[in-house]
Amino acid sequence: MKTIAVLGSTGSIGTQTLDVVREHGDIRVGALGAGSNIDLLEKQIREFRPGLAAVWEEEKARELKSRVRDTNTKIVSGMDGLLELAVLPEAELLVTAIVGMIGIRPTMAALEAGKDIALANKETLVTAGHLITELAKKTGAGILPVDSEHSAIFQCLHGENPREVSRLLITASGGPFRGYKRKQLEKVQVEDALKHPNWSMGPKITVDSATLVNKGLEVMEARWLFGVRLEQIQVLVQPRSVIHSMVEFRDGAVLAQLGAPDMRLPIQYALYYPERPYLTGERLDFEKLAEITFERPDTETFQGLPLALKAAAAGGSVPTVFNAANEKAVELFLKRKIGFLDIYDIIGLAMEHHKRIEHPNLQQILDTEAETYDWIESRW
Ligand code: NAD
Ligand code: MG
Repeated sequence: MKTIAVLGSTGSIGTQTLDVVREHGDIRVGALGAGSNIDLLEKQIREFRPGLAAVWEEEKARELKSRVRDTNTKIVSGMDGLLELAVLPEAELLVTAIVGMIGIRPTMAALEAGKDIALANKETLVTAGHLITELAKKTGAGILPVDSEHSAIFQCLHGENPREVSRLLITASGGPFRGYKRKQLEKVQVEDALKHPNWSMGPKITVDSATLVNKGLEVMEARWLFGVRLEQIQVLVQPRSVIHSMVEFRDGAVLAQLGAPDMRLPIQYALYYPERPYLTGERLDFEKLAEITFERPDTETFQGLPLALKAAAAGGSVPTVFNAANEKAVELFLKRKIGFLDIYDIIGLAMEHHKRIEHPNLQQILDTEAETYDWIESRW
């Protein structure tokens, strides 16, 4: 029986990971980890009986500990707790369903311990992709993408020679504001940004989808996962999220992966790779679907994508600034302290302010993150 650890088990990806585990009943959950939602974490502990559970917030960890005294689950907290979860001896795979670049250290610790990663936490790859891919190569650990676009590409590449790839075509829904112009975006509220047309996700990635920052992060994620040049990646808007992404090969053939928008499929593919057990859920009905349409992304209005491409082209520590500035700006937007378009301004100004570091090590990445946060906090 395969044993996994799930970091971020109470979130959108985390709970759907546990749905997949529950559906098949042949994977053991060795550890669960979350930020602060101990009500849900307690339920998960009682259902999955892990040996370890990590809670970021110390006080919540203490409370959970007393609540689950009757179980055999050890409760740990803080970054030490997340790291203990990441290297759990009996787990062969870590699902990184945590949000934000706080996932870097646990991801690297797991890779160092030779564990495979089912990677949802794209911020980690965007900021520390050079360290993570190198580490995975060194220890032979696998990185299995969970993000639907990257899972689609990974599925299209199955059995193919990666050297014969000419382009990756990453699809985007366009988010809730597709078709809007700047004037309309000036007035949008948090509630509007949290209404994604096709997917139900955590708040941060839902805002990222509305700004198209998410697509920018995904371009950088794809670059690290599939070892292609930036120029080989094209973003295409496909509003209904039926095609999850495509690969064009040297001979002109294009392979696409299609399916109903359901994150359990890419999650399951990462957990069971290369097997495809039966998965309940909606199937595509092509007669009802009738058409699939494509558009160019509106990069003039949605600055998230061009800003990301600029950060990606600059490389070094700049993607970290892009990501950290976005994390902070989204937090401010969700607290209603700034407007939607301010997110772009904050990212752009933070990138301008930063002095680029060529090959940042882990400490330099974390320092760049902290400096970016401080710089933004002192201004907004
Ligand atoms: P979410 O907000 O729903 O869940 C985040 C999880 O991380 C929660 O369990 C939370 O408790 C945990 N967490 C947050 N801070 C923590 C901390 N300091 N210590 C320990 N745990 C902490 O987010 P989500 O939508 O599930 O997204 C998770 C990741 O997956 C993100 O990187 C996102 O970009 C990526 N992703 C999500 C989707 C999706 O459909 N939701 C799709 C593709 C990629
Ligand atoms: Mg995605």
